[in-house]
Amino acid sequence: MEALAKSQRIKLKTAATFSLMLYDLVVKGGRVMDPAQGLNERKDVAVSGGRVVEVASSISASNARRVLNASGKIVTPGFVDLHAHVALDVARLCIDAESVCLPYGTTTVVDAGSTGELNFPTFKRYIIDRCQTRILAFVNVESLGMIELTEEPPDYTDQGWPALISAVNDTFAPLFANRKNLAAVLRRYKKNVVGIKWAHHGLPLLEIARSVADDVGCPIMAENVMTPDSVRYLKRGDIITHLYLPSSKGVRGPGNGLRPDGGKQIVEEFHKAKRRGVIFDIGHGKGSFSWEEATIAFNEGLKPDTISTDLWTGNVNGPVYNMPTTMSKLLHLGMSLEEVVDASTAKPAAAINMRGLIGTLRPGSMADMALVRVVEGKHPLVDVRGKRRLADRLITVTDVVKGGRIVNTFSRA
Ligand SMILES: [Zn+2]
Repeated sequence: MEALAKSQRIKLKTAATFSLMLYDLVVKGGRVMDPAQGLNERKDVAVSGGRVVEVASSISASNARRVLNASGKIVTPGFVDLHAHVALDVARLCIDAESVCLPYGTTTVVDAGSTGELNFPTFKRYIIDRCQTRILAFVNVESLGMIELTEEPPDYTDQGWPALISAVNDTFAPLFANRKNLAAVLRRYKKNVVGIKWAHHGLPLLEIARSVADDVGCPIMAENVMTPDSVRYLKRGDIITHLYLPSSKGVRGPGNGLRPDGGKQIVEEFHKAKRRGVIFDIGHGKGSFSWEEATIAFNEGLKPDTISTDLWTGNVNGPVYNMPTTMSKLLHLGMSLEEVVDASTAKPAAAINMRGLIGTLRPGSMADMALVRVVEGKHPLVDVRGKRRLADRLITVTDVVKGGRIVNTFSRA
């Protein structure tokens, strides 16, 4: 009897030791690039219960249920795309995050105002709650969000942007927003909503966005239009997106972008905004990324803080395609790979107040990862004006881990 009890005790102890040591996944042999931790060296990453539990020079694979071989690859935190449109079938312009974001390394995507206070709950119930991709949202200051009027209304813009049901002028604009309901949605859906989007409307709605944001305590993401007047509304922690919108003489008429006067230099208001801590975001899109504008901005020291795609139906088949292609464009412009990864992981995570939880592989963070290969060669990259550059490095994603689960492996396909 006593001998049996002893053997059972040993068995139990062995099982307990194993369960303590067993990881759900070990990503082995890659170069971990995690700017949030200042890491850029060969490391293994161990995952348990959906979280990163250890990052070390060598973690035994025998302790893992699954092993992902990352030899010859760079292991980064899952990308955080701060500006895209993923309210699929809620607003017609939206794309499917599950097929366009997650397989390309974007484990967290922030919808930039596709829905407003009226239709955000639908977006949450039928898309956000059902996707593997972590979806967060800036809620549009306009109650309807981005509902298209027709596919080709008379004022269809030359960048192919459909006209939205929206205020026709500043006098009617306040009728399209509801301060009380907007604030209520921001407060009620705190887990999903990260701020307010201002776009495609005049300054009276930016005033409304400002007052509600101050009241609730959240950031505004503002488009780079009606500048420099609109920039003056933005405070530390707010975001300007469409940073390298082509100069005003081109796409959107006067008064937009970094050079609203069409001059050779960026207007001072943007340098002031940078100094006071406004976040500068790419938001590439179909009409908002020009090599020329980016080059002028780089020369004046205005690099982006965050890299985002502004993916929607009008640009998913080019010139945006996906997050790694957009990141490659910034690499081509002269940012280092570490800077590009930082601007696609830790910095956007901080911008939405999720520093340490996503955008890093620090133990305790969500186990979201992209396995990256930087492919050398001659890769054509195109801006919104069709201008082609040949890049000598292209960022590609071979495998994706979301919450500790391998969700995509291009390398094994
Ligand atoms: Zn957008």
